[in-house]
Amino acid sequence: QGILYIVATPIGNLEDITLRAMRTLKEVDLIAAEDTRHTKKLLNHLDIRTPLMSYYREKEQERGAVLIDRLQNGENVALVSDAGTPAISDPGAILVQLAHEAGIKVVPIPGASALSAAVSCSGFHEGSFLFLGFPPTKSSQRKKLLTSLIHSEYPVVFYEAPRRVADFLKEALEILGNRQALWARELTKTFEEIYKGSLSELLEQCRDENSRGEFVIIIGPGNREEAAGENLEELLIWYRDHSEL
Ligand code: SAM
Repeated sequence: QGILYIVATPIGNLEDITLRAMRTLKEVDLIAAEDTRHTKKLLNHLDIRTPLMSYYREKEQERGAVLIDRLQNGENVALVSDAGTPAISDPGAILVQLAHEAGIKVVPIPGASALSAAVSCSGFHEGSFLFLGFPPTKSSQRKKLLTSLIHSEYPVVFYEAPRRVADFLKEALEILGNRQALWARELTKTFEEIYKGSLSELLEQCRDENSRGEFVIIIGPGNREEAAGENLEELLIWYRDHSEL
């Protein structure tokens, strides 16, 4: 049986690839990639010529079965995503689960992730945090999620698309009160920016300039009394009325 390697790749700066990742990508029989064209650029840069197969969200189950077959026939496979660590808000979990079920060894090759990069520069708490990935795209569902965080004692980490950052910050401010927050934008790239302030300051900053680039947003823990200001009761009623959403 072969081994399934879960390989982290850079989130912007191509120097952020580990020696082990490079060796693994060179030595495996096949690289399963979220977007083969994207990964091809990285491989060309590293002068690696391993064959590629696409493995993306819509085909996870189907391609997963093909990959398990190849692993069972003794081939070693590396899984990569477009950026960062596979299976973190990226395809991969289904393949990993299929591998566990088939008794195939799964080996992580750790490296860059926007999640750990942002948390490490946030200064929130001592390492405990909630990671919720991308918030729902529907405003009503986002509000429901934010309402469920009113009593959270942990900083909460989100990935968010640039066009939704302002709406997300506005809703967070309305529901959670003016907490401390941070955005980590374009990490490891030319226009990298780490900005920490209150939610209202972030919102203002976001209105002043167009929100472009990739964002990780971290919302700091609330202080219970302050959470949602004086609107707590109102929000709980809203939450009760919308809990079917
Ligand atoms: N698996 C990836 C990881 O480990 O970081 C995350 C993939 S997810 C589809 C893409 C999201 O991650 C982006 O929308 C953004 O929120 C965040 N992200 C990725 N690269 C980033 C970067 N260079 N700077 C800030 N956020 C980034």
